[in-house]
Amino acid sequence: MSENSKPIGRRDLLKDGLRGGCLIGLGLVAGSAAHKNRKVDMVWQIDPYTCASCGNCATYCVLEDSAVKVVQLYEICAYCDFCPGYFEPEAELEPGAENELCPTGAITRKFIEEPYYEYTIDEALCIGCAKCVKGCAAFGNGSLFLQVRHDRCLNCNECAIAAACPSGAFKRVPADEPYLLKRADHS
Ligand code: SF4
Ligand code: SF4
Ligand code: SF4
Repeated sequence: MSENSKPIGRRDLLKDGLRGGCLIGLGLVAGSAAHKNRKVDMVWQIDPYTCASCGNCATYCVLEDSAVKVVQLYEICAYCDFCPGYFEPEAELEPGAENELCPTGAITRKFIEEPYYEYTIDEALCIGCAKCVKGCAAFGNGSLFLQVRHDRCLNCNECAIAAACPSGAFKRVPADEPYLLKRADHS
């Protein structure tokens, strides 16, 4: 078996995830739509420890396609066979709309090695509804959480989602540190 065709173990995944910054996509979006046109000191971001997964992030953004998306922190994820962020409670452990929580099919489940599965997000499909976040926080490790994506956000002076957020999770943060990420020692 060649080096490239070896099965990827969970430890390799964790190691690679750490090396890559642990998160899908965020490393690619240091810039923001707002930053392209004007210099800003502060931007909006969600505190993942305060978010109540209410669903308003999907519907209150002024953009038709919300600037809020879910991210996956692989350092925290347990690569569960039954992922409570992916499956409906009591569902058959098989991919399929009837078994999945995500209304848009934005999460892909991939077998790694018994009994581990990897869950990745297709950002183009994610609407920021937080259903997966709620399931993962309630019954899993909380590795899925919402972030305002700064390649999309207009950095409105009055963020419409912040005004509708029931838990005060929207914060102003420095533009040069625009993400509020979970920590492995505090999931
Ligand atoms: S359940 Fe909602 S927040 Fe989670 S991936 Fe699907 S669309 Fe995005
Ligand atoms: S600042 Fe504007 S564009 Fe950004 S998340 Fe809030 S409502 Fe959406
Ligand atoms: S509006 Fe607030 S509580 Fe609701 S999903 Fe968005 S950040 Fe979380």
